Amino acid sequence: MSAEAPRPAIRCSGLTLRYPGKEVLRGIDLEVAPGTVFGYLGANGAGKTTTVKILTGMLDLFGGEVEVAGIDVAAAPREVKRRIGYVPESAVLYDGLTAFEFVQLVGRLHGLDEDLIEARTVELLHVFGLGERAHNRLSTYSKGMKQKVMFCAALLHDPEVLFLDEPLSGLDVDSTIFIKELLRRLADEGRTIFYCSHMMDVVERVCDRIVILDQGRIAADGTFEELAHRSNEGSLEKLFSKLTGAGAPDERIQLLMDALALTPREARDGA
Ligand code: ADP
Repeated sequence: MSAEAPRPAIRCSGLTLRYPGKEVLRGIDLEVAPGTVFGYLGANGAGKTTTVKILTGMLDLFGGEVEVAGIDVAAAPREVKRRIGYVPESAVLYDGLTAFEFVQLVGRLHGLDEDLIEARTVELLHVFGLGERAHNRLSTYSKGMKQKVMFCAALLHDPEVLFLDEPLSGLDVDSTIFIKELLRRLADEGRTIFYCSHMMDVVERVCDRIVILDQGRIAADGTFEELAHRSNEGSLEKLFSKLTGAGAPDERIQLLMDALALTPREARDGA
């Protein structure tokens, strides 16, 4: 048996990206082992979605090297797209199609066998609680239901790596619990989950490893316990605001309360 470590599911080396006048990613080095639920945490604007767009082959013109499922993303973005699933923050769907038709269409774009598409589509929509609405148009779906359809579409071809960008937005408690347990099971069976969020509480509980991104740089990397220990605060939320320079919530709330306590005269006088 080989003693070599398994090839990383995701590898970035010196990843940079600039938009005109703005350096968005400033040298990201990452290796994510297969079978990991990996939390990619950062404040709004930190560069999470930009990273995901690069890793999923949707954005080129980046600097550095990026591999997903062992494939060089710059050289073979289409091959990468075959091996991954992606659930964006807001569902992008064709409203005129039914949920069934949409998932079926995605299966065809992946070139899957028709019988397999049919069987998996029925099953996926059923387990996500959409079985009875499967043949209703997506224009009649709520935001949360659309998000579930995106999950079905992302899982249909059984991807090796699943990218999730704030995937729980708009979902109810039951669906949230179901998806968290599903992610655990997918990872336990060797698939890799790249989970972007600005919400600490979800990431704390689900992820094996967490990276905190601050203005395009990695500010911390470890398990939840390691990061909590490092913060000496026992809360990832506090470490997060410390590292991303947001300031302690208590102080900010006090500033707000002070502002609310101002009388019109004090405000005019610049008190
Ligand atoms: P996050 O997902 O962490 O909220 P993003 O990756 O979406 O952050 O954005 C990172 C930064 O890049 C932000 O400052 C954002 O304004 C900027 N940005 C994102 N897309 C573009 C674009 N198409 N053109 C210019 N700037 C962009």
